[in-house]
Amino acid sequence: MIGAGIIGLSIAYHLASLGTGRIVVLERESIASGTTAKATGGLRHQFSQRIHVQLSKRSIDFYSTIEDRLGYPVPFNRVGYVFLVDDEAVMESLQQSVAMQNSLGVPTELVTPTHLHSRYPTINVEGLVAATYCPLDGVGSPVDAAMAFANAARRLGVDIREGCAVTDVHVENSRISGVSTPMGRIDCNQLVVATGAWTSRFNQALAWEFPIEPHPRQVFVLTPVDGTRDLPFLVDVRSGTYVHAEANDVLLGGGDRDRGASYDAVVEWDRLATIAEAMTHRIPALKQARAVNAWCGLREMTPDDMPLLGPVPSVDGVWCAAGFSGHGFMHAPAAGEVVAGLITGSATVDFDVSGLRLDRFSSAHGSVGTETTVF
Ligand SMILES: Cc1cc2nc3c(=O)[nH]c(=O)nc-3n(C[C@H](O)[C@H](O)[C@H](O)COP(=O)(O)OP(=O)(O)OC[C@H]3O[C@@H](n4cnc5c(N)ncnc54)[C@H](O)[C@@H]3O)c2cc1C
Repeated sequence: MIGAGIIGLSIAYHLASLGTGRIVVLERESIASGTTAKATGGLRHQFSQRIHVQLSKRSIDFYSTIEDRLGYPVPFNRVGYVFLVDDEAVMESLQQSVAMQNSLGVPTELVTPTHLHSRYPTINVEGLVAATYCPLDGVGSPVDAAMAFANAARRLGVDIREGCAVTDVHVENSRISGVSTPMGRIDCNQLVVATGAWTSRFNQALAWEFPIEPHPRQVFVLTPVDGTRDLPFLVDVRSGTYVHAEANDVLLGGGDRDRGASYDAVVEWDRLATIAEAMTHRIPALKQARAVNAWCGLREMTPDDMPLLGPVPSVDGVWCAAGFSGHGFMHAPAAGEVVAGLITGSATVDFDVSGLRLDRFSSAHGSVGTETTVF
């Protein structure tokens, strides 16, 4: 396994629980030091693509009992997600998504502005057409979840090596034979690439173009003000901004999908005014908040905002689990089960993941579609 982010660790844990052979996870820095450390912890079922809802359902079920399963406490605050919509056409498309989510047993509902305001008086509902709300959504802790997977995997015998970068990949007769690290070569007959935003660095070595781009995303930490502690995870669909309470703070982000691809994960304070303007329109009380901190992380975006999950067609024995396009924390448990199942040939999940195969951008089957509920 290359990469000890939430995805690599979940796969390692699930593989080990199936009782497979020796598993070594190689991480160039430390556990959860990549994008996983920058995630804001959102867990939601509200997507436009069926497969995303299925991954969320399975994963959020897992997170709701993670301490019993892995013996490590991971906070999960089911505050619900609310998407605020002020456009009829957008509402129509969200309505279709809600119907699809309901058909999968997810209790997302359409909420009128009046009802929303009575439940959350802090929200300015002026000009809203409606909102969608799912009470099973919420906020968790990505780093705690990664530690939970790492500890459980180690207990099952997984060897996690930090400070150990994979510098080369060895292929013999179109089959994986090993990897190089500064500490020497490690032979293997299966390799999982779980390197998130850095996956395209293996394009040449694996003779496959991984269409994953790193997109810097800003998060601003605000002081809490009246009513913000009781907020759900709130998304303003028009601006793509979001806000939610986090321990003693309020996190504000989104609204920066226009930012081009780059590995420069630097805080851009000049974006705060625009993002804050969009969200203070909906939560006027936030005008009293002060920004006290900020961070920037790299989202690992694919052309259809869906992950690359499955065998790498160019080299036998290589698997890819990357490009979760900003949903990797919420989809990690199911992704781990899926990849463990694919590698061992066992049925671990009851839904079809072939739509996430790596050749979907060029193959005759094409892609299953683009995820549109992304911000
Ligand atoms: C601001 C922000 C907010 C987000 N909010 C959410 C959210 O609310 N909910 C959600 O589900 N997701 C969210 N995400 C997305 C989520 O963080 C990612 O989808 C997820 O962390 C991806 O996990 P990963 O394991 O694929 O990648 P990573 O965590 O990046 O792990 C990949 C690992 O591979 C290692 N690596 C790379 N190259 C090598 C090499 N050559 N050798 C060895 N190791 C290597 C890296 O060091 C890294 O640790 C957010 C992301 C950002 C930036």
